[in-house]
Amino acid sequence: MSNDNAELTRNHLSSASSHLMTDDNKGVLYIVATPIGNLADISLRALEVLKTVELIAAEDTRNSKALLNHYSIQTPMTSYHEHNEESKSKFLLGKLKSGESIALISDAGTPLINDPGYSLVEKVKLAGFNVCPIPGACALIAALSASGIATDRFSFEGFLPRTSGARQAVFERYRSRQGTLVFYESSHRIVKCLDDVLAIYAATHKISIARELTKTYETIVTGTVAEIHQLVNSDNNMQRGEFVVLIEGFDKKQHKDDGLSDDDVKTLKTLMTECSLKTAVKLAVQLTGQSKKDVYKKALALQDND
Ligand code: SAM
Repeated sequence: MSNDNAELTRNHLSSASSHLMTDDNKGVLYIVATPIGNLADISLRALEVLKTVELIAAEDTRNSKALLNHYSIQTPMTSYHEHNEESKSKFLLGKLKSGESIALISDAGTPLINDPGYSLVEKVKLAGFNVCPIPGACALIAALSASGIATDRFSFEGFLPRTSGARQAVFERYRSRQGTLVFYESSHRIVKCLDDVLAIYAATHKISIARELTKTYETIVTGTVAEIHQLVNSDNNMQRGEFVVLIEGFDKKQHKDDGLSDDDVKTLKTLMTECSLKTAVKLAVQLTGQSKKDVYKKALALQDND
């Protein structure tokens, strides 16, 4: 490393350890994660930012008052929620222009993750101001980390549609995809949602439910779709509170005899009723992205079963 580079690294490290806020903290929008239940789950840096900014934009000021009172933070608050995003963004941009710094917080967890803030962040960045994340609690990440379901690749769907048909369509789409499916669910719909999971996935497929994370009745259960469906249906307490649901993705290793998902096999079967085996295999390879060897092997097996 050259002397210049070594100097740069030293400066960078010392500035990172001696400043909880950014070096140039005028006109900065801080995106501050707050607890998802347990009030102790907040970082030192988040507390410092909330104390020193000129204004806190909160999703629900009454709700956030409890957190601020708990930590004796007296910074003024203004509301910023999904119904005033446009008008409030202009007001907040004006504050940044006059050199004030703002912390955006939501009712729980990380702002913008199924919470308001995207429109503000987009506008603030377009206007050339610095947006600085202060990371912390997030229900989906907490659930994923303790679920015992693969974490190397996952898709987050936020809240699923409210109707059973639309929910089942989402599960149909994910059933043959690799990677864990993660979504948020409310106490009103958890039972119906699990009915839909059972309707689409195999009863032996792996699922996890993380309920009331970091709170008194925190429960994280992982098992087969049939087991978790039965558990939630038979225990009213398991239907209360806030939920994160995680469903294991399609696992190629479990299907190593042919590597094809149920949907791939359906496609191949349809093609085989319309074309020669050779053409059906060729088209199925193009449509499913599976290897020619796997598709051909499956086609021969299907033909033999006829
Ligand atoms: N911004 C939040 C975050 O970072 O996780 C999510 C906000 S979203 C409006 C609220 C949903 O997140 C709840 O309905 C629930 O599905 C999930 N959630 C929030 N807190 C939770 C907790 N303590 N335990 C389980 N799920 C939680």
